[in-house]
Amino acid sequence: MKAHDGMYIDGEWRPAAGPDTIAVVNPADEQVIAHVPAGTIEDVDAAVRAARAAFPAWAATPPAERAARIGALRDVLVARKDEIAETVTAELGSPLKFSHAVHVGAPIAVAGSYADLAASYAFEEKVGNSTVHLEPVGVVGAITPWNYPLHQIVAKVAPALAAGCTVVLKPAEDTPLVAQLFAEAVHEAGVPAGVFNLVTGLGPVAGQALAGHEGVDLVSFTGSTAVGRQIGATAGAAVKRVALELGGKSANVILPSADLAKAVNVGVANVMSNSGQTCSAWTRMLVHDSQYDEAVALAAEAAAKYGERIGPVVNAKQQERVRGYIEKGVTEGARLVAGGPEAPREQGYFVSPTVFADVRPEMTIAQEEIFGPVLSIMRYEDEADALRIANGTVYGLAGAVWAGDETEAVAFARRLDTGQVDINGGRFNPRAPFGGYKQSGVGRELGSHGLSEYLQTKSLQF
Ligand code: NAP
Ligand code: MG
Repeated sequence: MKAHDGMYIDGEWRPAAGPDTIAVVNPADEQVIAHVPAGTIEDVDAAVRAARAAFPAWAATPPAERAARIGALRDVLVARKDEIAETVTAELGSPLKFSHAVHVGAPIAVAGSYADLAASYAFEEKVGNSTVHLEPVGVVGAITPWNYPLHQIVAKVAPALAAGCTVVLKPAEDTPLVAQLFAEAVHEAGVPAGVFNLVTGLGPVAGQALAGHEGVDLVSFTGSTAVGRQIGATAGAAVKRVALELGGKSANVILPSADLAKAVNVGVANVMSNSGQTCSAWTRMLVHDSQYDEAVALAAEAAAKYGERIGPVVNAKQQERVRGYIEKGVTEGARLVAGGPEAPREQGYFVSPTVFADVRPEMTIAQEEIFGPVLSIMRYEDEADALRIANGTVYGLAGAVWAGDETEAVAFARRLDTGQVDINGGRFNPRAPFGGYKQSGVGRELGSHGLSEYLQTKSLQF
C-alpha cells in the first residue's frame, strides 16, 4: 500500500520531526503493508500552529463557501470510493463488500449531510431584544479510533469545518492509511491550507500532546472509556471543551409480541458485523422466559452462518482480549452455544462468531465492552425485569426494542437510559444525534446536534 512518509500540515506533506515509524499490519494475513511516521510533540505543535493561523480566515469564510468545500470533499470521497474501501479492508481487515457499504457509504452520507447543513444552518438567532451569534469554538484536536476509521474522522472533521473551526487530527495507529487518504481528499477539495492538519502517531505520545496542547480549544475523542476519562480530566483542568464518544454495552430487548425470528436474526447480524467492533452493537440480547430456548436455538443457527464470512479483529492484542473474555464467560458459568475461545484459523487475527446463553447480569461478559463477535443472551421474567437488566450497566450508548406494535416498543424505549434506540430494526440515520448517556460519553455527533458541539454563543443585546 502507498503511504506518505510525512505529516499533512498547512496544506502540504512535510517531513516528520522524528525518525520513528509505525508499521501498518493487515489483520487478515498479519503482513506489514506500509509504514507511517510516528508523530512527536513537535509535529503536533507545528500542526496546532498551522490550525491556529488558519482559524480567523476560515471562521470568517461565509457558510455557503464552507459548505461548497465540504461538498467538494464529499465528491472526492465518492470519486475515490474503491481506493477507500481497499485501504480500509487492508488495514482493518473488514470484508471488501462491507467496506464499500459501510466504511465508504457512511462517511459519504455524513459529509453530504454537513455540506447541506453548513449551507442552511441558522448561525444567528433572535431571542427577544438579543441577537445570538453562533461562532466557531476555535482549533479542534480530533482523536479517532480504528473501528470505523473514515466514518469517525468525517463525523468530527465535517461538522468542525462546517462550524468554521480548524482541525488537527490524530487517527488510530492501526488505521493511519485511510486518514492519509482523507488528507489527500481535503487537499483536492480545495480546503485552504492549515484548516485541516494530520499527525499520525501513537496515542500516549501524539494523542496526549494534542489533547493537552494549550493551542487547542476543543478536544473531540472517540475510543475507550479509560482513555476518554483521562482526556476529559486533562480538558477539564484546562477549562477546555471536550466531546467524548466512548464504549457501550447495548441491549437488544425482544418483547414477547415481537417477530422473534426477525429480531434474533437482525440482532445476531448487528453483533457480528464489523467483527463485533462497533461501540453501539447490541451485545446483550434480552428474551422473555417463554421464548428463551427458541431464541437461543435461532441465534446459534444464525451465528454459525458467519463462520466463513466474518473478518478478523483489528490486531493481535484485540484477538487475545476478546478470546480472554470468551474464556471468562465459560469460567463464570455461561453456556457456549456457538463459537468459543479457539482461534478458527492459523493465520490472521480471527475470532469465532460466539454466542453465550444463560448469561446473568452480574457476569463480566454482561458488563464489560468486549469489542469482538460475542453475543450474550439473557433471560427476563417481565418488563420491569427486562428494563432493570437493560439499564444495569455503566454504559448507555444505544439499544434496540422489538414488539408487535410500535407504540409498545416506543413506550419501552423511552424508559431506556441510552442515547439511541432502533425500533423494530430501524435504519441508521446519518443526521440523527449519536452519543451516550452515563459513561458512554459526553456530547453528540452527527446532524445539527453534532454541528452545535463546535459552536459557542455570543449574545448581543439591543
Ligand atoms: P483507545 O486506546 O481508546 O484509542 C482511541 C484513540 O485514542 C486512538 O487514536 C489512540 O491512539 C488514542 N489514544 C490512546 N491513548 C491515548 C492517550 N493517552 N491520550 C490521547 N489519545 C490516546 O482504544 P484502543 O486501544 O484502540 O481500543 C481499546 C478498547 O477501546 C476496545 O477494545 C474497545 O472496547 C474500545 N473502543 C471503543 C471505540 C468506540 O467507538 N467507542 C472505538 C475503539 C475502541 P492509538 O491508536 O495509538 O492507541
Ligand atoms: Mg490503544
